[in-house]
Amino acid sequence: MSEDAPELAVGADAFVEQGAGHAVAVVGAGAVGATAAYDLARQGADVTLYERGTVANESSGRAAGVCYDAFAGPIDAEIASDAIERFRALSGDETFPFTECPYVWLAREGDDRRADAIRGQLERMHAQGVVALEMTADELAERFPALRTDDVAVAGVAGGAGYTDPGQYTACLAAAATGAGATLETETPVSLEIDPARIVRDDGTTETYDAVLVTAGAHTKRLLADAGISIALKPYRVQALVASCDHPEPMCYDATGGFYLRPHPEGLLAGNGTEEWEADPDEYDRAANDGFADDLLERVRHRLPDAADIDLERAWAGLCTATPDRDPLVGQLEEGLYVATGFQGHGFMRAPAIGQRIADQILGGEGIDAFDPTRFDGDEEFDVVEGMGVTDD
Ligand SMILES: Cc1cc2nc3c(=O)[nH]c(=O)nc-3n(C[C@H](O)[C@H](O)[C@H](O)COP(=O)(O)OP(=O)(O)OC[C@H]3O[C@@H](n4cnc5c(N)ncnc54)[C@H](O)[C@@H]3O)c2cc1C
Repeated sequence: MSEDAPELAVGADAFVEQGAGHAVAVVGAGAVGATAAYDLARQGADVTLYERGTVANESSGRAAGVCYDAFAGPIDAEIASDAIERFRALSGDETFPFTECPYVWLAREGDDRRADAIRGQLERMHAQGVVALEMTADELAERFPALRTDDVAVAGVAGGAGYTDPGQYTACLAAAATGAGATLETETPVSLEIDPARIVRDDGTTETYDAVLVTAGAHTKRLLADAGISIALKPYRVQALVASCDHPEPMCYDATGGFYLRPHPEGLLAGNGTEEWEADPDEYDRAANDGFADDLLERVRHRLPDAADIDLERAWAGLCTATPDRDPLVGQLEEGLYVATGFQGHGFMRAPAIGQRIADQILGGEGIDAFDPTRFDGDEEFDVVEGMGVTDD
């Protein structure tokens, strides 16, 4: 391990030299690519992680860092649970802090559709063994006095949850990847050639690999399209803010109000502001819309009536990626070419488990059938649907 690389709390003694002899390129040093590079390198693969800017300069550097295991589908629940376990195991004083914090999601009185959906989600979570409680308004008030609850019809509360700084996580995993032997090339935009899998730098130099993993976030569709491969993916814009105030817990998603919030070292972080249409990953506006912060802070104040002096510190926008069925695209596209994208606003919280699974698949393990990226032709018509809404599926 190099002197600068953080020593993660788990790892070195657990790895198997399964990747020895495999030359693998990972394109994109966001949370997913950095994790995969780390897992590939610690299994002995010869890994190069290419990043067109700096580590975490796109969505992973703009994310809220809300993490939870409260998913109702079996594979989602398994992945989310593994990810939370890994956040706990990898974090530490010298790496990135993962702060345990309960996650509450709620529907308001009169919003029967979302209230029923939350009850249905909780039933399905229980069937998966996810530890999540249903609470009434009174129970919620007793447990979380900071929250306004008199308008709440039903709430779910998940204990397998917490938050961290996504940029710090990503930087830490990229450094740990180099510590495990990976090469990191930042400020290096690349394009692809396939059959054989080849990376082409802007200066025209090329490198050939046994496998290339594309984790280029919102740029993934464009990058693959330039190599003649179409995937069903649309980037869309979301917004968030940090405000000063005192908010110790919980993290909360108000499904009726259409926003989430979590504690933050400066007070709280809140967000949503989803735009349900396709954004251009090279041209989108990185500043929050006029009025976004005022409107969101009004909703936050409603939910936190006793929090005095909630003042805006900063607001911003970033991109998430949508797929036709709201499940990600993770797996093999063609011989030697893999992808991991399309996380519909939940890519950071799943990165520790997705990175590990795709690394394993590249080195000969099984993929995740439900996320097989070839389940779509790539030219499907579909609408962007916000990732956080509560649904019956
Ligand atoms: C405001 C906001 C809040 C969010 N909150 C949450 C949250 O609380 N929890 C959660 O789970 N998710 C959240 N998300 C979603 C989350 O940010 C993403 O799902 C996740 O960061 C995706 O990680 P990634 O590694 O796939 O992509 P990215 O982090 O976007 O990384 C892709 C990388 O590829 C690089 N790249 C692109 N093209 C090339 C090229 N040609 N050559 C080399 N490199 C290239 C980019 O520069 C970039 O660094 C949020 C997103 C936003 C915008």
